[in-house]
Amino acid sequence: METRLAELRKRMQEIADLQGAAAVLHWDQATYMPAGGAPGRARQLATVERLAHEKLTDPQLGNLLEELRALEESLPYDSDEASLIRVTRRLYERASRVPADFVSELAWHRATTYDAWARARPANDFALVRPFLERTLTLSRELADFFPGYDHVADPLIDYVSEPGLKVATVRALFSELRKELVPLVQEIARRPPPDDSFLHRGFPTDRQLAFSLEVARQIGYDLQRGRMDLTLHPFTTTFSLGDVRITTRVRQDDLSEALFGTIHETGHALYEQGIDPAFEGTPLAMVLSSGLHESQSRLWENLVGRSLPFWNHFYPRLQEVFPEVLGDVPLEAFYRAINRVRPSLIRTEADEVTYNLHVILRFDLELELLEGKLTVRELPDAWRERYRSDLGVVPPDDRDGVLQDAHWFEGIIGGAFQGYTIGNILAAQFFEAAQREHPDLLHQFARGEFRTLLEWLRDRIYRHGGKFTLAEMVERVTGGPLRIEPYLIYLRQKYGELYGPL
Ligand code: ZN
Repeated sequence: METRLAELRKRMQEIADLQGAAAVLHWDQATYMPAGGAPGRARQLATVERLAHEKLTDPQLGNLLEELRALEESLPYDSDEASLIRVTRRLYERASRVPADFVSELAWHRATTYDAWARARPANDFALVRPFLERTLTLSRELADFFPGYDHVADPLIDYVSEPGLKVATVRALFSELRKELVPLVQEIARRPPPDDSFLHRGFPTDRQLAFSLEVARQIGYDLQRGRMDLTLHPFTTTFSLGDVRITTRVRQDDLSEALFGTIHETGHALYEQGIDPAFEGTPLAMVLSSGLHESQSRLWENLVGRSLPFWNHFYPRLQEVFPEVLGDVPLEAFYRAINRVRPSLIRTEADEVTYNLHVILRFDLELELLEGKLTVRELPDAWRERYRSDLGVVPPDDRDGVLQDAHWFEGIIGGAFQGYTIGNILAAQFFEAAQREHPDLLHQFARGEFRTLLEWLRDRIYRHGGKFTLAEMVERVTGGPLRIEPYLIYLRQKYGELYGPL
């Protein structure tokens, strides 16, 4: 059995190496590649992803997994060995439904579409990407059809790209419950006088913004011996191996929040990846497939930590030192209120914590309408504007800050891309509540610039397990119960009640 297990590890290592190579190719495309590289890059990604897929669907791997079933069943569910066999089997069975030609075509199409989007967004030219997106929609439906018997066409897509086992019906119920609470909350806050945040939009030199953001990332625990930061159009975190976890960011001179909170967000993702048990390197256990779990960590660090008053008790004097001409005369309290200003806005990644989920829920609904055939790609920009008008009361003046703002549909499939953000927000509060129960002085530690206790707790309870557990299993293990929206609502009401008056 030991040799069988070694054989499994060897096979999965080769697949992980190909996936790591694909990640480098994609990262390079999104950071440094000159425009002329796009056609070659799409071809290279298609080839590498085909090879990885062929290895993952090799019938001999299936035989090996059958031979290992007895070993798996003899071991505890959460042991490394049983988890490796279980998670590999899930990947094998899922991948085996999808032909290698399709995987390769989708990889080519994704890279080509990303290139078109990268040109279309600055040019505000939706027509340029429309045919690509129409093809994406077709490919997304075809992908779903490799998994017949679904309740909703998006079910297999969510399972495939972002949240194993999660169904549309579950997300819809969760979102409608949340929406019922959030809409009146946003309206109530909108009636209160807003804080002044004009100083966040004075000029902040790019190089100093980047240096400060990276300093914050490092102080909360990002290991630069195993990571680095580069500029991109739409920030992401990517893992080439557990020794090389990279973040990306973007900067605007007239908006301090973009690079700062975007970087803390990506650092949260990177802390998760850097915290995975090094023994999992080269196996599927080194990959966290759940977008909800991953976003719970980016949003936890970005918001519950990074937008808290104690966090800025520590960092604000340093920030004032970096930008004395702009922030020298702005008191901490005013800065804290400004970075937590609630205001319906156009851009999801810059949205405040209270309105953020409305951006997500409308994207999720539009995705489903596209997949259900109730909405065409041609109608999408108008549908987008209409939902912003009705849900947030703001209307994008153009597609650049409308339907073209997020890379997701233009670098992946349609379906499964967005629900993880809101699930992540909910979970972040639930996990943080659990951490505070064990360490009631966490916020006091932040004020002293100490993030170690929280990081160690998260590593121990969540990060080190990598891809061992599904979202539902992880929530149960960490909090002793299922996913609940109450801690999130309590957190919002308390924090924004203090900022805006009782809610
Ligand atoms: Zn994220």
